[in-house]
Parts: sequence; C-alpha cells; structure tokens
Amino acid sequence: MPGANVLTDRIESHLAAEARRRSGAMTEDLREFVGMPTFSGYPEGLDAFRDVLRRRLEALGARVELVPGAPRPDWLWGGAAGGPPPPTLVARGPAPRCEAGLGERKRLLLSGHLDTVHPPQSPFRSLVISGSRATGPGCVDMKGGLVIALHALSLLKDAGEEIAWSMILNSDEETGSYHSEAALREQARAHDAGLVFEPALPNGGLVVERMGSGQFVLECAGRAAHVGRDFASGISAVTTMALAIVKVSEMSDPAAGRIVNIGPVEGGTGTNVVPDRARAWGNVRFSSPAQADALGAMLDALSTPENSIPGVKVRRSFNRPAKPRTPAVEAMASAARAVSEALGRELPFGVTGGVCDGNILQDAGLATLDTLGARGGGLHTPEEWVDLDSLPERAALVAVLMRRLAGGPE
Ligand SMILES: [Zn+2]
Repeated sequence: MPGANVLTDRIESHLAAEARRRSGAMTEDLREFVGMPTFSGYPEGLDAFRDVLRRRLEALGARVELVPGAPRPDWLWGGAAGGPPPPTLVARGPAPRCEAGLGERKRLLLSGHLDTVHPPQSPFRSLVISGSRATGPGCVDMKGGLVIALHALSLLKDAGEEIAWSMILNSDEETGSYHSEAALREQARAHDAGLVFEPALPNGGLVVERMGSGQFVLECAGRAAHVGRDFASGISAVTTMALAIVKVSEMSDPAAGRIVNIGPVEGGTGTNVVPDRARAWGNVRFSSPAQADALGAMLDALSTPENSIPGVKVRRSFNRPAKPRTPAVEAMASAARAVSEALGRELPFGVTGGVCDGNILQDAGLATLDTLGARGGGLHTPEEWVDLDSLPERAALVAVLMRRLAGGPE
C-alpha cells in the first residue's frame, strides 16, 4: 500500500519528536532502575522497585492493585522460595471517555518483569555509560524495556491520547512465572492485544514465534546397602537414574522441534553406600502442542509403578506453551514494522527457542508481541549492555503502535 510506512498524522509526528526530546530523561530513569537490585530471590529489592513503579503508574492515572502470588511446585530445581511469594502488580490505566465515534477501542495489555538474574551482592550493580552504550544488571533485560513502556504511556498521556491500557509487572519471570501465571492469564483474557518489553533480538528484530518450555524431575529410588559387606542386597538409585537419563537423551530431535536437557543431578550420600535416592532435573523445549504432548508422553513412560524398587517417578510442569506465529501476531508484527520503518529503522522478524511471559499471555488467548524492549546484548551475564539510543526510538515506536492498535475496528 503506497504511503503505508510513513507517520500518518500530526500526533504521530509529535510523539516521535517528543520521544527524542526525552532521551536524557529516559537514561536517568534507567540509571535509577538499574541501581536498584532486583534479583529474583531478593524480596526487599523487588518490593522497593515495585513501589517506584507503582508511583510512576499512579502518576499516569492508573489504579494499581497487588495480586498475591501463588506458590510454585516444591520439586522444581531451587525448591520453593522462602517467604511469601511475591505479588504481581496490575495497573489499570484511566478509562477512555466513551464519546460517540470512538467505536470499539481495543484494550492493550503491557507486560514486564521486575526481576533480574543478578544477585544484589554482585559487583555488577550500577549503570555505567560510555557514549551511547551502557552496561548494568538488568539494563536490557528488562529495565530498559520498562523505561520504554513507561515513557510510551507518558507520551500518549501528554499528547491527550485516550487509550485503554493496563500494565502487569511480575517479579518471578526469570524463575518461570509460577507465582504470577494465574494473574497473567486473567489479564490476558481481559485484553485484546499484548505488548511485552523483553529485549529486541541482537539485530533489533522482533520475535514472531517462540518454542515452549517445561520443567521436570526424575526422582529415582533404590535400596541402600554397605558397599563392602552387603553390596548384593543394594539397588543403586544412581544407576537407575543413569539408565533413565540415557533414555531421556534420546528424546531430543531439534529438527522436529523437541529439545530435552538434563541437569543438575544429585544422588548418593557417600562412595561406600549404595545410593537409595537420586534426582535429575531437566528442561524441555517444544515447537508445538503436539511436540509438547509427545515429550510429556515419553517422559511419563519412564515412570514405574508406585513404590517399586528400583523406581522412577516423573514430575513435570510444561507451564510455558509454544507461542506460534498466528495471523493475529502476524498482523501486529506487520503493524510494528510499518511504524518502525516510518521512524526510519527496519524491523526484521525472528524465531527463538527462548521463552517469556508472552508464551503464557498468548496461550491464554491474547495475541502478543514480546520483544518491544531495548536493543542490547550480554543478557544474563556481567557484560549485559544496552544501546541507549534504542530507548527513545522504541518509546516512539511503542507509542505510535499503541495508538494504531487501539484505534478501534478496521
Ligand atoms: Zn527478560
């Protein structure tokens, strides 16, 4: 369509220009956010950061609610976290006035996570700027994305644009979103399009398709015995586990969309005792519900009858379903590309085996774009970095995209 990839009116041009003017303010926000440690297992830091965002969202006119977190399965690697599960913040933007002619406005759900993988005692703890590049814990995953989301909302508010939006912020994305999954699903059902602020692909691109992910554990039972005096009466749980692991290793078929990884493992209490207990944790990735079912069935088939020795018990939780490239996602991605090109930057599309909360939102029925955050790299490492220029660029992209997506029936 000729002229599709240009800014279409005065308000879009204003949003783009105003985003550029706010570049310094966005960097300062990022400095503040990155300076607050929010490791997944550090509730004090998460609570403090959640308060900061609550105030920012209330200043945008939102009503904020904290939804209590649900417990996570205690068999997961790392066990159940100590203390109460963290709450999930749900902010509801001011309702647009129902004027005649507004038509059916689409309700947009912005989604992000507060937690990072960087422990608070790490020496990697603040934003260090060098030209247009900065390093810092969580700078791109995803505090840069949170800055982008807040400024996009602020740009729209200051331009007088009335858009129906909510924002959901959890504190356990890096550990699987078990505490927040129910809240994510509830909000997904109440909205028409989802925008997640995970980092862009290294080339600045948008992920349009993701594999799903699941966790499992093999709990193996044997019979303990003294190695020297009574070896023959022992049954090794570690050997049982090893045999099961060999079978698991044969389940992977990346070309077919199935990946299985095992580790960590544990078993035994000493070298002179036949071990009666062993466990192996693992992670599966799958390209479709059919591959998830196939993997689930293969894992379940390793189970032995209750209380048998040797015995294998399989526990699993495939809580992040695959996120396919649906027609609705395709339409949103094309809309994002049109805006990006109008702002002067190409927007390539990509596919990844990585998962995020977009997997959960889309599984609950919400068409979702999930890499609208900052450009950068070194995710989950002490070299994590962000391209500071991407903050105003992406804030403009998101503000214009939100306005177009919300615009009512086509
Ligand atoms: Zn992330």
